[in-house]
Parts: sequence; structure tokens; C-alpha cells
Amino acid sequence: TCDGVFTRRWVRWFAESVSRTEPELTDLDRRVGDGDFGTNLLVGLATTIRVLDRSPVTAGESRAADPLEVMAGVFLDEVGGTSGPLFGLVFQELAASARAAGPTLTGAAVEQGIGAGLAAVRRVGEAEPGDKTMVDALLPALTEVRRAGPLPAERALALAARGARRGVSETARLRARRGRAGYLGDRVTGVPDPGAVGVAVLFASAAGPVT
Ligand code: ADP
Ligand code: MG
Ligand code: MG
Repeated sequence: TCDGVFTRRWVRWFAESVSRTEPELTDLDRRVGDGDFGTNLLVGLATTIRVLDRSPVTAGESRAADPLEVMAGVFLDEVGGTSGPLFGLVFQELAASARAAGPTLTGAAVEQGIGAGLAAVRRVGEAEPGDKTMVDALLPALTEVRRAGPLPAERALALAARGARRGVSETARLRARRGRAGYLGDRVTGVPDPGAVGVAVLFASAAGPVT
């Protein structure tokens, strides 16, 4: 079952994935931005893990929403860059829908959380689909989960990862209009958006660390 032990492991695997892929994420943001994206994500997740480790849980004790809420709080309050608070909003909405679903995460809560996270990012960041941002990973992730209908949470997250990865390849073909990459124009065509890659890594990490 997708209880708090499941989501805690997901967050831990996400942190592990980001420490492994940080050089790649940094390189992408060097090419389309200012090079701090990998560090922003890495530092936020290291802090999250430190906070989680201060409150160990045993199976069945915690709610699925708890670790996601810890991660949301760290990113909203402490993580820099444009992506810090925007990821914070995604984590916050995932946590809120997990909380509403009860002690365990469901596929419907995953779908609801991604939808609300996408809406929050669009409201705050004002990026449109096709602007070469994390929106271009969240939107196909949502589409993929929605199309499949009722699913267990693990399956929904795997589909979200597949949709997000598809979105990432699309971003490589896009010219940026938002964020720092927007100033670089055609120079960023061919390079995927780092924030979109981060979203794909987030969902893929539910099944294990990504390399
Ligand atoms: P900064 O550009 O402030 O250094 P980061 O490097 O932490 O921020 O994050 C860059 C990522 O943030 C981009 O790859 C993109 O996915 C995302 N991003 C930037 N601006 C926006 C926006 N307005 N809406 C949604 N996502 C955005
Ligand atoms: Mg940056
Ligand atoms: Mg920056």
C-alpha cells in the first residue's frame, strides 16, 4: 500500500536521483539558464531528507501526505531560483490531495495532485504550454494519467513519468519564452528544459532512483 512509508521512500529515491543527475541538470541550466537548477534541487532535497530523518516512522504509522508536506514546506520556504517555490507548489498540491484521500495515496489522488500542481504553477509562473518550462512536463504527465482511468498510485506515477519524459523531449524542440531561457532565444533550441527534466525525475523516482 502507498502509505507514508511509500511516500518517504519516494522522496528518498528522488533525492538520490537528483544527487546522481545533478551534473546533468546543472549542465542543462548552464546552457539554457544560469546554471543553478541542479544545486537548487539538490540542496532542497538534502534539507528535506535531514528533516525527515529527524522523525523516523514505522510501517503503518504515518500518512502518505506527511513526507510530501515536509518536502513542500522546505521548497516553499527555503529553496531559491524560480523552480524552488514552483516545485514547492507541486509538492504542496500532491500532499493536499494525498491528505484528502486518507492515510494512503491513490491513483485518483495522484491525478488530482498533478492537476492542482499544474494549475498552481501556471497561476504563479504564468507560463503557457509550449513556453519550454516545467509546465511542458506536468501537462503531458496529467494527460497520460487521466487517459488511463482508475489506477493504483504506483501505476499512476509510472504513467506520469512516461508522460513527463515525452514532454521533456518536446521541450528540446521549443524556443523558450519564459524564465531566463527566454532571453537566450534560438540558442536554447535543441536543449531540453531543466525544470521539465526535474519533473520527470520526480515521478520516475517513485519506482526507484533514476540515473
Ligand atoms: P532560475 O531561472 O531563477 O535560476 P531555476 O534554475 O531554479 O531558476 O529553475 C529553472 C526552471 O524553472 C526552468 O527550467 C523552468 O522549468 C522553470 N521555470 C522558470 N520560469 C518558469 C515559469 N514562469 N513558469 C513555470 N516554470 C518556470
Ligand atoms: Mg537557474
Ligand atoms: Mg538562478
